[in-house]
Amino acid sequence: MKKKVYTFGEGSKKMRSLLGGKGANLSEMTNLGLPVPPGFIISTEACNEYYQAGKVLPEDLKNEIFSQLKKLEKGTEKSFGGGMPNLLLSVRSGAAVSMPGMMDTILNLGLNDITVLQLARHTSPFFAFDCYRRLIQMFGNVVFEVPQSHFEAEWRRTTKGDTIPGRELSIQALTALIDSYKKVIKSFSGEEFPQDPLAQLFGAIEAVFQSWQNERAKVYRQLKNISEDLGTAVTIQSMVFGNLGDNSGTGVCFTRNPSNGKKELFGEFLMSAQGEDVVAGTHTPLPISEMKAIMPEVYTKLTNTCDILERHYRDMQDIEFTVENGQLFLLQTRAGKRTGQASIKMVIDMVDEELITKEQALLNLDETQMNQLLHPSFDGAALKREIAIATGLAACPGVAVGKVLFDPQKAVEAVNRGHRVILARMETSPDDINGVMVAEGVLTARGGMTSHAAVVARGLGKCCITGCEDMEIDDKENTMTINGRKIVEGDYLSLEGSTGKVYKGLIPTVSSNITQEFKTILDWADKYSRLKVLANAETPEDTKKAVQFGAKGIGLCRTEHMFFQEGRINTVRRMILAEDEKERSEAIERLYEFQFDDFKELFFITGDYPVNIRLLDPPLHEFLPNSKSEILSLAEDIGLTFEGIKKTLDDLRDTNPMLGHRGCRLGITIPKLYKMQVRAIVSAALEVKRLKGNTPRPEIMIPLVSLESELRLLRLMIIEIINDLDPVGELGDIPIGTMVEVPRACIISDRIALYADYFSYGTNDLTQMTYGFSRDDSDKFLRKYHEEKILDVDPFQTLDERGVGHLVELSKKLGRKVNGNLKLGLCGEHGGDPKSIEYSHKIGLDYVSCSPFRVPVARIAAAKAAVKSSPVIDQLGVNVNDEM
Ligand code: PEP
Ligand code: MG
Repeated sequence: MKKKVYTFGEGSKKMRSLLGGKGANLSEMTNLGLPVPPGFIISTEACNEYYQAGKVLPEDLKNEIFSQLKKLEKGTEKSFGGGMPNLLLSVRSGAAVSMPGMMDTILNLGLNDITVLQLARHTSPFFAFDCYRRLIQMFGNVVFEVPQSHFEAEWRRTTKGDTIPGRELSIQALTALIDSYKKVIKSFSGEEFPQDPLAQLFGAIEAVFQSWQNERAKVYRQLKNISEDLGTAVTIQSMVFGNLGDNSGTGVCFTRNPSNGKKELFGEFLMSAQGEDVVAGTHTPLPISEMKAIMPEVYTKLTNTCDILERHYRDMQDIEFTVENGQLFLLQTRAGKRTGQASIKMVIDMVDEELITKEQALLNLDETQMNQLLHPSFDGAALKREIAIATGLAACPGVAVGKVLFDPQKAVEAVNRGHRVILARMETSPDDINGVMVAEGVLTARGGMTSHAAVVARGLGKCCITGCEDMEIDDKENTMTINGRKIVEGDYLSLEGSTGKVYKGLIPTVSSNITQEFKTILDWADKYSRLKVLANAETPEDTKKAVQFGAKGIGLCRTEHMFFQEGRINTVRRMILAEDEKERSEAIERLYEFQFDDFKELFFITGDYPVNIRLLDPPLHEFLPNSKSEILSLAEDIGLTFEGIKKTLDDLRDTNPMLGHRGCRLGITIPKLYKMQVRAIVSAALEVKRLKGNTPRPEIMIPLVSLESELRLLRLMIIEIINDLDPVGELGDIPIGTMVEVPRACIISDRIALYADYFSYGTNDLTQMTYGFSRDDSDKFLRKYHEEKILDVDPFQTLDERGVGHLVELSKKLGRKVNGNLKLGLCGEHGGDPKSIEYSHKIGLDYVSCSPFRVPVARIAAAKAAVKSSPVIDQLGVNVNDEM
C-alpha cells in the first residue's frame, strides 16, 4: 500500500505537488528547526483517490491517519478526545498552487461537551467555551454547509445585539450560544453536531477534500488556469492558541512591503484572538510594528524568523503566526503576493544584498504583472468600495474612466470638447477606428480576444473589454442595459482591462511610468534572452512607443491600418469603386503618396532596426461603409450613385470573409496595389538613406500564402520593382518573406521556403484555420467550452502547442531543410503571451512580435525562457516551479 500520510518531519518544500504548498512548507520549516506545532499531512493523491472511490474515505487511509494521530499524541504528550492535557487539532486545506481563501479550514477539533470541561479546568472557562463555540460554528458551516448568517442571527439574538467586538461574553451567554448553534445545525441539516472527536476529524477531512470542488475554488482555478486534477492535501496540526489571554495573539506578516517593495516588516496582529478573527473583520488588528512595544522579545524572534525564511526561500515570504503565552509558533509561510512595482524593487534589492542572482531575480518576477507598470491603475482604496456591474473578456489591460458613448463620431466630438470617453459598441468594425483612437477605453458586447476591437486596442495600449455579453445597446434611445441596469449616453463608466470588470461611475486612477528600476530589469532581461522581441506597429506613435519599450524592430507593420487613417479612407474607397482602370490608377497614385510618407516616417524612427512591412491583407469590402446613411454620404462625397456603391459592395462581400478575397489573393488579382506599396517602401527607404545617411532595413511580407506558386509570382514581381528602383543595391538585399498562417503553408513549407527569406507565423489566422474557429466569433462558445472543460485555455491567447504548435514545428523543420538561414518569427497575438513566448524559445524561433505595450513583458518572458532552459539553473538551485 502506498503511503498517503506524512509527518512534517518527513516532507520538504520540494514535495508541494504531493503535500500541497502549506504542508510542504510546514515540513520545510520543521526541518529548519523553526517553532512549528507538530502535525501530519494527508497527500493530494489521497484526495484524488477519495474522489475516485465516490467520495468515501478508504479504510486503509483512515487507519494510516489513526496511527499518525497516535504518534502525534505521544509526541505532544497530549490526548485527543479525552484525558489531559487535551490535544486539539486544526484541519486545513492546501493545494500545490496556492488558492488563498478558496477552500476550508476547521480549528479546535476534539472538543465536545466533556472535553470542554476538562479544558476549562486547565485554562479558563471563557477560553474553553469560546473555543467550543468557534468549533461548532466552523464545523457547522464547513461540514454541514449551514450558512454563516444563521449563526450570526443566533449571535445577535442570544447576545441581544449588545456585544461589542472584542468584549468577552459571559459564560452563561456562551453556553446559551453553544446550545443554539447546535440547534441551528440540527434544524438545518437534520444531524447532530458529533460528540465523537474521531467522527469530527474524519468529517472535517472529508469536508476539506470536498472544498476542492466548491464553486469559488472552481472559479479561481479557471481564472488562474490551475488544473482540476491537482487535488488538495489536508494538513492536520496540533492547535496553539492565540486567544489564551493577554500574552497571546495571532497575525500575518510579510518580510517586505508587498505594495511598494520596501525592506521592512509589514503586517498586522491581533492580541488575544484566533486567526479567523482577523479575516472576519470583527476586530481591528494592529500594525505589526506596534508588537515591538507590546511583546518585545516575541517581536525580535519574529523578525529573526522572517530573516531566516526569506534567506532560505530567497523570496519575500507571507507568514502566519500565533503567539501562545509569549511563545511564537509558525503556522504557514509562502511567497507573498505583491504588486508589479513591489516585485521589481524587491528583486533589485535582493540582487544588491547578494541574496539572489540576476537569473533568479528574473525567475521571481511574474511578467504578466509588469503590465501594471505601464498603464494607469485604479486607486486601490477607491476600488475596494466598488462592485462590478458586469464582466467581459480582459482583452487589453489598463484602466479607463469616462463618459460612455455609443457612436464613434460622437466620441470624437466629445473628446474634441474636452471629455474623456468610453466607446461602447455591440462590436467594432474598422470604420470605428477614429472613435477607438480617441476613447480612453473600449467596451464591446461581442468579439473575442483577437477580435478587431481587441487587436486595435492592444496595438494602442488601450484598455479594452470585449465579449461583455450582459450588455445590450439601444442605438435609437442612446442607452444601454447592463444586467438590467439602464445606462444613458454620457453616464460615467470605469473599465478595468486586466480583469474585464465594468463599473458604473467614476473611479479615481493613479498613473505610472517606466521607472529606472523597471529599466534595470529590462536591461538584465536582454542580456539573457536569445529570442528577439519586435513590435507590431504601423503608426509613428506606436513605432516610437515600441522603440522606447525596447523592441528590436518592427515585426509586423499592417499596412491596412494606414489606409484607415483620416483623410485617406475616401481615396481607398475611390480606388475600390473606380469605374475604369484610369480612375483606379489615379487613386492608387494618390495612395502611393500617402504610403511613401508613412514609410519614410517609420524608417526615420526605426533607424537601423528591421521593419517588416506586410502588403495589404483584408478583404476590400472592409474599407467600404455599411449603413445606408454612410453609403449615401460617401456617394455624395465622391460623386457616385447610392446604387452603384451598393452594387460594388454586394459584389465584393464574401460569404466567408476570413477565407475570401484577401491576403496575397488581392496582390494577384490587383497587382497594381501591391506594386504601389513596394514602390513606396523602396523609394521611402532610399529617400531616408539620402537624407539621414543610415540604411533603413525594410522587409517585405506577403500574407496568407497557401501555394508556392502564389509566392513565386509575387516575389518575382517585387524583385522586378526593387531592381528597377535600386539597381545598384544601395539598400542591400531586401528580404522578402511570407506570413505562414494557413495550415497548408505549414505542410508544404519546404516548397514555400524556396521563395521566402523568412517566415512569420501569423498565429491568429493559423489558430483560426487549424481549429476552424472564427477568431471574431469564438467568444460565443469558448466560455461554454471552458465551463464544460472541453478547452482549458483560449487558443487565441495562448498558443495551442499540440495542434497549432505541431504545424509550426513541422513548418520550421521543412523550411530550414531547404534554407538553413530561413529566419523564423511569430507575430500573432501569441507573440505577447508569456507561455507562448516560452514555447517559441523552446522550439528555436528567432523572434516574436507583439503590440508595443506588450514588449516589456515579452522581453522579460523571453529572458525567463532562456534562463529556465539553461543548464546553469540547476547549479543555482532554483526551483522554477516553486511558485506559491
Ligand atoms: C495573424 O494572422 O496572426 C496576423 C498577425 O495577421 P492578422 O492578425 O492581421 O490577420
Ligand atoms: Mg493574419
